[in-house]
Amino acid sequence: MDYKEYITVVENFPKEGIRFKDITTLMENGPVYRQAILDMTDFARNKQIDVVVGPEARGFIVGCPIAVELGLGFVPVRKAGKLPREVLEVDYGLEYGKDSLNIHKGSIQPGQRVLITDDLLATGGTIEATIRMIEQQGGVVAGIAFMIELGYLDGRSRLEEYDVFTLMTY
Ligand code: 5GP
Repeated sequence: MDYKEYITVVENFPKEGIRFKDITTLMENGPVYRQAILDMTDFARNKQIDVVVGPEARGFIVGCPIAVELGLGFVPVRKAGKLPREVLEVDYGLEYGKDSLNIHKGSIQPGQRVLITDDLLATGGTIEATIRMIEQQGGVVAGIAFMIELGYLDGRSRLEEYDVFTLMTY
């Protein structure tokens, strides 16, 4: 399937010069959204994944249905101040900005095999921070699945040691 047909490219959002890839037009189409999730799930099958992790907010849109499809749990990664219990915190840089990410302490057990999901790989900063929080808890990142990769930002070079899957590349 040519998933790009269902992505809307929005010029100058959220800042001047950014060509934002809007996945909501893909999500609005039930059969296409479902097929995208199933294609990403197929990447994760046979990897003996124990748990799925995704950063807010679009990592949930992708990761939760994959976790349900695999019959696995989902662990949210959130911006600072959103998770109610004790957290691990990691600072990270974005394509457009800086922030810190949190995960609940003890949400990943040592040795657990983790699938990380997000809508889009840009510079790789978000996923690098997510990997750090998983590995600090002794988790093993067994795969990383995105809907979209911005090839021109070369986030993939920061993820060289990992098994990375994307549905489409710009
Ligand atoms: P990175 O950390 O790889 O530089 O940026 C990726 C993160 O920023 C993802 O969580 C993603 O949701 C968000 N992001 C950056 N650019 C875009 C974009 O063009 N479209 C969408 N949907 N998300 C983006």
